[in-house]
Amino acid sequence: MAKKDYYEILGVPRNASQEEIKRAYRRLAMKYHPDRNPGNKEAEEKFKEITEAYEVLSDPEKRARYDRYGHAGVSGQTTAQHMNIEDIFRHFSEIFGDMDFGDPFETFFGGTTRRRRRQRWHSRKGEDIRIKVSVSLEDIATGTTKKVKIKKFVPCNVCYGTGLKPGTTQQTCPTCRGTGYVRQVKHTVFGVLQTTTTCPTCGGTGRIIEPCSACGGEGRVKGEEIVTIEIPPGAREGTAIEVQGKGHAGVRGGPPGNLIVEIVEEPHHIFIRDGNNVIMELWLSYPEAVLGTTVEVPTLTGKARVKIPPGTSSGEILRLKNKGLPSLEGYGKGDQLIIVQIYVPSKDRLSSKTKKQIEQLAIQSELKPSNRTGIISNLFTKLKDLYSILRHRKEG
Ligand SMILES: [Zn+2]
Ligand SMILES: [Zn+2]
Repeated sequence: MAKKDYYEILGVPRNASQEEIKRAYRRLAMKYHPDRNPGNKEAEEKFKEITEAYEVLSDPEKRARYDRYGHAGVSGQTTAQHMNIEDIFRHFSEIFGDMDFGDPFETFFGGTTRRRRRQRWHSRKGEDIRIKVSVSLEDIATGTTKKVKIKKFVPCNVCYGTGLKPGTTQQTCPTCRGTGYVRQVKHTVFGVLQTTTTCPTCGGTGRIIEPCSACGGEGRVKGEEIVTIEIPPGAREGTAIEVQGKGHAGVRGGPPGNLIVEIVEEPHHIFIRDGNNVIMELWLSYPEAVLGTTVEVPTLTGKARVKIPPGTSSGEILRLKNKGLPSLEGYGKGDQLIIVQIYVPSKDRLSSKTKKQIEQLAIQSELKPSNRTGIISNLFTKLKDLYSILRHRKEG
């Protein structure tokens, strides 16, 4: 059977505005509403049909696809045909919210159709909030505290988080008389079936409330809070810190959720982290490397003096014990590893005097063709050290 045109179903022109589409849908939804057509299978089908049409035409993207490709363009994109009527109401609650149907749930279960400004009562724990906080290696070395402003639900200060309209109390649900269950009778081809289900009015809690107008009965409103977060020494990229009770406020007096802070390590301009070790590069002049010297290097907590022994080669790794990061577990400390590099000035920076001195040096050099390979293999050992550090860093 060919599908009917969505515009035809809603009775609107193809250039109808969103407002016209919405109005047409509301009008038809009222007409075919199951409450007005009890037990009428045809009306129910019609109701689903107009809902499907509305689902497509109210969504600019789906509407554009439908205009261009017809039903093929939105095939599998609509959900109304697979939903039961309750789901449809839940799905389009923003449309039905202010329609005078009475509570659709009460209607289905034979309750009164008088509209009530009442809500189910139940309390619920607040949701957790996840945030990321970036921290420098210096802060990780010592541990620190960070103040962060969190946008979140906070308790409503009109109803003190209860969700109750001031001066009212929770009431026993009239649909189930406080039991939380309703019996439903269905006429099927197999005969009359009686089932017991959770009361749709109160959601099984047996209680309903007159909602607080400030928070709509939720007991919480949008707000913000400044939270102090303790960053422990030795924290790593991805370390999660849970701050108890600093997530969203609970619904109607439920306990608050937690704030979960994920550490993001800021890249450092000097150091690379390798577990609890930090690695840096140190450039030496050729005379410093040959004759040895003492240089000052930065550390995560200040400065340190490093003795460069005479005869230090390029690629050699020096170690400053315990100048790395503390372990998150609280014992032991990493080291600061210093990879030595020998600085070679570019040729246009060489004065003719320096050039002569270096030529002199070349004559005295021990570097004979026979031991070049030895030096290169030595370099490979250094590179292998470096690779294993880098590999470890990747895996860690
Ligand atoms: Zn309130
Ligand atoms: Zn109930």
